[in-house]
Amino acid sequence: ARQGRLAGMNQDAVETFDSKNLRIKLVLLGDSGVGKSCIVLQFVRGQFDPSSKVTVGASFLSQTVALKDSTTVKFEIWDTAGQERYASLAPLYYRGASAAVVVYDITSPDSFQKAQFWVKELQKHGSPGIVMALVGNKADLEESREVASEDSQAYAESNGMFFIETSAKLATNVNLLFEEIGQRLPRGQPTQ
Ligand code: GDP
Repeated sequence: ARQGRLAGMNQDAVETFDSKNLRIKLVLLGDSGVGKSCIVLQFVRGQFDPSSKVTVGASFLSQTVALKDSTTVKFEIWDTAGQERYASLAPLYYRGASAAVVVYDITSPDSFQKAQFWVKELQKHGSPGIVMALVGNKADLEESREVASEDSQAYAESNGMFFIETSAKLATNVNLLFEEIGQRLPRGQPTQ
């Protein structure tokens, strides 16, 4: 069951959540232009639409995923929307996040460097036990690749993250990314 919808940030949650039905805050991090918004739109709406920037402002996208073990996870996805420029907002942005997705572009070594900066920030400000994913996006641009998968894999492993390469354009591994996060979330207690 996949139901995407737009949720206002101030909307009160009326649903109840138990160990079978998790609801979690997920924050997106990464350089501008690496494809964060496109990944979310592909996940939530099943489309690649680079012109649509729906995540800007006081809203987030949410999407519920059913996992193999018959649990469901409702992801409330926070996009930075340029907030990376305001360091003072960081603690608010990270607060209550059970998962973080750090995105870079496989054709941009700079964006991979920047991803490593965000991982350090997460280690500083994130909740202990936060599930962290390192995502190499634009995997469809293999001919322009400048970041080797092996390097990212090794970096992710040494920082307790899992690593996956995605293409928001071709929808490659986008759903799998969120399923893998869901599977790694702690079970047995309500989140948030
Ligand atoms: P954000 O600033 O990180 O949110 O990046 P966007 O989601 O706005 O994407 C930036 C640009 O990268 C878009 O205009 C897309 O054309 C392009 N893009 C995003 N994902 C992919 C992908 O998987 N493959 C390719 N080839 N281009 C992508």
